[in-house]
Amino acid sequence: MTRSYFIFVRAVLIALLLATAPLFAANIILNDYAASQAMREMQAMGERHILRAEDAINQTVTALQRLDRDDIQTCSAEDRLVYQKLVTNLGMVDAIGLVDASGKRMCIVPDVELTGEAILPALRPDGPLVGIGMLDREYLGARSAVVSWDLRNSNRLFAEVTPAVIAVDPGPEYLRAYRRAELHLGDELHWFGTGGYNSASADPNDTMVVTVWSENYPLKATVVAPSSAAHSLVQPLKVVAATACAAVALLLVAVSVWFSWRPESEANDEFVAAIRNGEFIPYYQPVMDIESGKLRGCEVLMRWRRPNGMIVSPGQFMAYAETHGHIFDMTRHIMAQSCLEMEGLYRDRPELKMSINLFAGHFLDREVISDIKAAFEKSEISFQQIVVEVTERHPLADMDLARKIIAELQAFGVRVALDDVGTGHGGMAYLQKLGIDIIKIDKMFIDQIGMDDSSTTIVDSMVELADNLGMGIIAEGVETEDQIDRLLELGVTAAQGYYFAAPMPAQEYIAFAERLEEEELEAARLAEEAEAAERAAAEAAMNEAGAAA
Ligand code: C2E
Ligand code: CA
Ligand code: CA
Repeated sequence: MTRSYFIFVRAVLIALLLATAPLFAANIILNDYAASQAMREMQAMGERHILRAEDAINQTVTALQRLDRDDIQTCSAEDRLVYQKLVTNLGMVDAIGLVDASGKRMCIVPDVELTGEAILPALRPDGPLVGIGMLDREYLGARSAVVSWDLRNSNRLFAEVTPAVIAVDPGPEYLRAYRRAELHLGDELHWFGTGGYNSASADPNDTMVVTVWSENYPLKATVVAPSSAAHSLVQPLKVVAATACAAVALLLVAVSVWFSWRPESEANDEFVAAIRNGEFIPYYQPVMDIESGKLRGCEVLMRWRRPNGMIVSPGQFMAYAETHGHIFDMTRHIMAQSCLEMEGLYRDRPELKMSINLFAGHFLDREVISDIKAAFEKSEISFQQIVVEVTERHPLADMDLARKIIAELQAFGVRVALDDVGTGHGGMAYLQKLGIDIIKIDKMFIDQIGMDDSSTTIVDSMVELADNLGMGIIAEGVETEDQIDRLLELGVTAAQGYYFAAPMPAQEYIAFAERLEEEELEAARLAEEAEAAERAAAEAAMNEAGAAA
């Protein structure tokens, strides 16, 4: 559970990382794109302003030049009529008039009151022929410009350019609410301004500024906007990117969850199917009486026989079976199976024992009692022939319940062995509290016998303890004759190990048991024969002696 949980969490984190990294990248790229796009739009906006202004000035200058050329350059009623016509025809000009050298108005059409104030700077002899100035009259943020044309008589024709002509289109929608566009004559004179963005109070790091100069007149257009305004351009794209990344993240999470859980669930399905198909089978390892050489019985050891014939050891699946709770079914199955396979052998040999391995979880629930009963009750194997092994490697969570379960099993004849003694932390406490019948000394100590004295001492004290508590003792993992000799010296009389036989399938174990019996019978027969021969020889000798006498 915890392992797969961590795999799951890791998979989700990786998936999120894989999905959010592109989102960050997309954000940066989109913002960059938006900024450069906005700068382009602002540049175009500035250029349009300049173009409009130049156009208005050019057309006005051309009209004034034409008047000059046609010699229409006085305040006469005749000339004013021409001015009037021109104002009507030229949409961009509001008024046409004349000023003297000092810049004072001489006349203006259409007629307005002449205040006498100068509307243009005094004429300079070295100045350009065309002059541009500004009036205070405003229309939609634009002021009226005054374009003048110098006449040879030091007077100047002038025309007021309507402010409306300079009111340029407001630019793309997304910038409209934020940008401020301004058109200046020279550095100072404000001709036109539009938009609400206040560049003075804005964060300079978040401001885009574009300035465009006219090539023909001292005109300057400035467009200012906050960078963030541009972001709205890509907002829909960002939503799309975020949605796409979220979708990818979801997909990746789903895929990783699938991959992190799938093997688990597949493995589980495979395992359950294997149990159902009876792929878990008992192997039997003989337990020998090392004094007499007789068979004492066996330990049932589980194997997974895969459909391809491969035999898998419990080391590879037992932990899984235990943590996933499959072990209960598997143990029931293994008991039923071994009962079926051993009935024939065990029926007539009540001295043979059969050891079944249980795990700590079996001692958390009385169900194991009914399981064992169900397996052997109606069989020809008696409960007296059954031993259950409980390992000392893993602690028993509920010692009291374990004690009760053990006592109940013992009550109908089953005996209980403590497995792997010396490897766990239970030790003496287990032996005494649980009411164990047999202890199985772990291979670890058997391996050390003869090599180091402390092991011998440990085994020695185990034997002593077992004797004192009236318990049987079995040595596990015996591989050499030396070990058997030492065990005999120490007073151990039962052992199992590769020296005698490895765990084997039922038929082989039955054959092993029968061969031992035959060998025993044969040995007995030989012994009898030898004895008979000896007796016969002795008799013959007696007879011979009698005859001689
Ligand atoms: P265990 O109960 O201590 O079983 C003894 C293990 O030592 C067996 O390994 C056996 O094959 C191995 N063995 C026996 N003699 C020798 C020897 O001379 N030398 C060496 N090197 N090894 C020897 P196996 O069959 O692989 O079983 C491993 C463990 O799996 C068992 O240890 C037991 O804890 C568990 N197990 C096996 N079958 C079952 C079962 O049906 N139920 C439960 N709960 N656990 C089982
Ligand atoms: Ca065992
Ligand atoms: Ca063991």
